[in-house]
Amino acid sequence: MNVHKLSHRLETVSSFIPKGSKIADIGSDHAYLPCYAIEKELASFAIAGEVVEGPYQSALNQVRESELEERVSVRKGNGLEVLSQGEVDCVTIAGMGGTLISTILENGKQKLEGVTRLVLQPNVSAISIRKWLLENGWELVAEKILEEDKKIYEVLVAERGDTRKPYSNMEKELLLGPFLMKEKSEVFIKKWRQEAEQWKKICDQMNEAAQKGELEKKRSTIERKIEIVEEVLQT
Ligand code: SAM
Repeated sequence: MNVHKLSHRLETVSSFIPKGSKIADIGSDHAYLPCYAIEKELASFAIAGEVVEGPYQSALNQVRESELEERVSVRKGNGLEVLSQGEVDCVTIAGMGGTLISTILENGKQKLEGVTRLVLQPNVSAISIRKWLLENGWELVAEKILEEDKKIYEVLVAERGDTRKPYSNMEKELLLGPFLMKEKSEVFIKKWRQEAEQWKKICDQMNEAAQKGELEKKRSTIERKIEIVEEVLQT
């Protein structure tokens, strides 16, 4: 991967950047995505935000090597704190857990004023992001699922709007994704078969342990998720 050729995962993220945007890529590591977005003229200006020194230095080096210092600003800091209000109109956050992405959005809410699109790629727990969007005035407008190097990734795209619009069955769609569930692609089916298998194993282990109380509650939550997935995969 380099600034001219992204991974399929990051290329999918980039495909949702509205042409001509000013973007901020938070947790940018090597700054591949912002450099690519500038080179391909998807973005007119980009910020690469990074909290850890090593990746921050990698981002600085990459931007220098690409001679993009004028158009990609590399900033060290936690989450959205590297932004000034109104500086960008699209924020991308990729390659982290859904819970961390939601925390970054929650902690930096006031910096999102003026931002019109979020492109989020959680490695796990997309449900945390869907819940955060729902509670914070962001309408989920598109989703993609893809497989790369034997890993399955989801990409969630949101804009300000009617947060409940994509949902008709909240419990199912928060877990599986309203657009992904409708599309029901091969990768989607593969992902949820694998997840359900995993949960079944956990339930079996819990049964064996024959513990009560909290464990019992956890088991029935997982069993409900299995039910949802199986129902959807069967229809
Ligand atoms: N976004 C790139 C991608 O998708 O390939 C890099 C993903 S990398 C696994 C996650 C990056 O996010 C790491 O470089 C990490 O240091 C950074 N990160 C984690 N938490 C962060 C935060 N709160 N603010 C900024 N960067 C963060």
